[in-house]
Amino acid sequence: MAKDPVLILDRLSVSYAGSVALNGVSLAVQAEELICVIGANGAGKTSLIRTIAGIVRPSSGRIRWCGRDITGMSPWEICELGIAQVAEGRELFPSLTVEENLLIGGSLKRARGRRDVNLRRVYELFPKLDERRRQSAGTLSGGEQQMVAIGRAMMSEPEMIMLDEPSIGLSPVLTGVMFNVVKALHSQKITILLVEQNVASSLSIGDRGYVLENGAVVLDGTGKDLLSNDEVRRAYLGL
Ligand code: ATP
Repeated sequence: MAKDPVLILDRLSVSYAGSVALNGVSLAVQAEELICVIGANGAGKTSLIRTIAGIVRPSSGRIRWCGRDITGMSPWEICELGIAQVAEGRELFPSLTVEENLLIGGSLKRARGRRDVNLRRVYELFPKLDERRRQSAGTLSGGEQQMVAIGRAMMSEPEMIMLDEPSIGLSPVLTGVMFNVVKALHSQKITILLVEQNVASSLSIGDRGYVLENGAVVLDGTGKDLLSNDEVRRAYLGL
């Protein structure tokens, strides 16, 4: 028997001063799935993540997480329920050290008691960060800063991580590293919502995907099906 989804968006709409960013988005995510959200600039991908995270309030629609209505909860409450966000642009504290940035993620009640264990897990996944634990985050390369942002999310022992364009601004080599990190998180049974402009790479590792256009879902399917879909190939892969 199919399990209930962990995350359900029910006709979610968002407007900024009257301009519509999301227009009745419905989707469902099962536990441990890796879901990709793709779409052109301005399609509403970041708004989707920020609304689930409680940073943006929807104008209508509901968000359910593990059977509970979380619409309108604060970002802090939502993090405590196990949803972590890795924002586009990373949002680190540049003058704090790598470790201080990581510890901020470990300060949530849900994970506070296991801070040291979680810190070790982060350093195992990102040995570079262990070497640079006392260095200010602002002095790291873009790829290393992205690792800190992901590590900070891991410190809260999330059940789901939402990643907003983790490969943006990275070299092709580092982009490959970043997709391997996303795969590693997925193999740790963390549910993942991945927003990416790198459509081919994200759909090739995603269980399923949704295509957003002008704030609405226009297509969804398995990663494999979307990769071979003619519309997706034309619009996002230039084929
Ligand atoms: P990108 O890939 O360029 O980041 P996106 O798919 O993530 O795009 P959003 O950033 O969610 O899309 O933007 C959706 C729409 O909402 C766009 O038309 C954008 O201009 C608008 N928008 C986003 N944030 C704001 C804001 N704070 N105030 C006003 N309009 C906004």
